[in-house]
Amino acid sequence: MTEAVAIEVEGLVKTYGAVEAVRGIDLTVASGEIFGFLGPNGAGKSTTINMLCTLIRPTAGQASVAGYDVVRQRDDVRRNIGLVFQDTTLDGYLTAERNLRLHAELYGVPRDVLDDRLRQVLEMVGLWDRRRSKVSTFSGGMKRRLEIARGLLHSPRVLFLDEPTVGLDPQTRSSIWTYIQELKQAEDITIFLTTHYMDEAEYSDRIAIIDRGTIIALDTPSALKASVGKDRVSIGTDDNERAVAAVAERFGLTASVVEGQVTLAVENGEQFVPRLFAELGRPIFSVSVARPSLDDVFLSFTGTTIREAEATATDRLRGNPMMARIRGGR
Ligand code: ADP
Repeated sequence: MTEAVAIEVEGLVKTYGAVEAVRGIDLTVASGEIFGFLGPNGAGKSTTINMLCTLIRPTAGQASVAGYDVVRQRDDVRRNIGLVFQDTTLDGYLTAERNLRLHAELYGVPRDVLDDRLRQVLEMVGLWDRRRSKVSTFSGGMKRRLEIARGLLHSPRVLFLDEPTVGLDPQTRSSIWTYIQELKQAEDITIFLTTHYMDEAEYSDRIAIIDRGTIIALDTPSALKASVGKDRVSIGTDDNERAVAAVAERFGLTASVVEGQVTLAVENGEQFVPRLFAELGRPIFSVSVARPSLDDVFLSFTGTTIREAEATATDRLRGNPMMARIRGGR
């Protein structure tokens, strides 16, 4: 195991009776990476995270975290990871500081370093001034920040964040992301995260998309976006038909008129636009370039948008007949 690898997974499998929750996945996460793990509901994300965190035992295959085997060296793995899961496990009756001290005891953080470390993590998430307040008085965002501080208290090498900002308002989500990115700078830590928010997945250095227990895509956000399609360039002109003809003549490309704009697909929109202005030979009044988004990536690989996947699963749970009809019709 080299220093540079934080998580190594080979042929990892988990079956529950006839259900193959995870079907032999492979992945390597480099030390210091933010690694995003995406997939529709029921894809196998939680099962994978739970195996990596040693909470459940793999049926087959191997995984190591921070250099330790998740089956044979469970305690070593546990000492070296931090967990921030969806369900809060903070004690609302206790102060922020007391919650952290309890955690420090569980993890055996040495007393001589604890006070400094406590201050460091609470300052990092902007809660040092509120350390003596009961957690029950905290907002959702403050609680989540406190959980992140707690997950870091014992200086883990790898931090697992399962939907770290679910249910929070956009402003709080963005401030939590500021902390996560600062953290990466300050702590030299590896972050393995799941999220349903595609804008958040953009913060990842690399993303794996899992579907039906199999990894179906794994790359940087920009490479994934490039793999699903070209950029879309739209221009406003004085005469769209002539502009379409000019695009065909000068560039040999097929443009069409979409919502009053001449629209065409190109490999690299930003590089193409200056050429378009220089060579089209017709006036251009406005221009816009749209890149494929991670939503497009998700749709392309899984056949559903991540929000639809989420809504479908939620409504299936609630037995909503309207949603069942919509799904049946798709
Ligand atoms: P995700 O986190 O991506 O939503 P999960 O890992 O929770 O997906 O689930 C993957 C599959 O494994 C699903 O089909 C789920 O129903 C099944 N599964 C998960 N945990 C169990 C369990 N304890 N017993 C039986 N089936 C399970």
